[in-house]
Amino acid sequence: MLEVNHVTKKYGRNLACNDVSFTLDSGSLTVLLGPNGAGKSTIMKSIIGFLKYDGTILVNGIPNKTSEARKVLGYIPEMPSLYPTLTVSEHMEFIARAYRLTNYKGRIEELLTRFELADKKKKFGDELSKGMQQKLNLCLGLLPDPDILLLDEPLLGLDPHAIKELKNMIEEMRQAGKTMLISTHIIDSVDMLWDRTVIMQKGQVKANVTKSEIDGMGKSLEDLFFEVTEGINKESVSESEKTEEKTEDKTEEENGEA
Ligand code: ADP
Repeated sequence: MLEVNHVTKKYGRNLACNDVSFTLDSGSLTVLLGPNGAGKSTIMKSIIGFLKYDGTILVNGIPNKTSEARKVLGYIPEMPSLYPTLTVSEHMEFIARAYRLTNYKGRIEELLTRFELADKKKKFGDELSKGMQQKLNLCLGLLPDPDILLLDEPLLGLDPHAIKELKNMIEEMRQAGKTMLISTHIIDSVDMLWDRTVIMQKGQVKANVTKSEIDGMGKSLEDLFFEVTEGINKESVSESEKTEEKTEDKTEEENGEA
């Protein structure tokens, strides 16, 4: 279980996350939905321990920045950060060693094959197309097979085969009891089986509903999204209505505050 409790993150005067709370039940798939700039990446980076913030985040009851919590947490960032001088194989090997994985060769083969990178093993990071970089980024995040996986806009930039393969893998991980948080700003991409949706806007959680709750309301996810983000029938689902700062300017760069 992952508990995000009253997390607030400011970049300068910009409130990127404003008192954000939600819980991921073990073995559930939660979709984190929101327009660009809603604070989705910021909350994910906070969970994984890359940022300083106010509030608490607990992983199975343990603070997220402890080594015990880090062992079960995985994160696939939106932007791949590859090493230009390492090959595809070397990237995978690097992650396997960093996580002290054993018997990982077969899994590397499987991932590279599924994402059509098996014939690119000797290519260097900077020789890969953008889409290939995105696919390698996914393979690197999936390799350690963590119990709790955060995927930040994972479908962006992927070709149709990779999208299908990733959706299959998400379903396999779901069946294997993994806990997943998947962010997206594209409602149409949420066609996999999900258990809960958290909708964010301007740094705040605007709705937090389970699949059965939304089915019970007789609404589609799209209906709910526009209701809470564009103000129609807002009071029925809105969790918090606090005053928010509206400045959107990037005023502070992250500087590796782990
Ligand atoms: P989302 O992932 O939902 O698109 P983000 O979490 O990336 O949203 O951004 C939330 C807000 O925080 C935006 O206003 C964005 O401009 C701001 N922000 C994000 N990263 C930084 C940063 N490194 N420095 C300053 N502001 C940032």
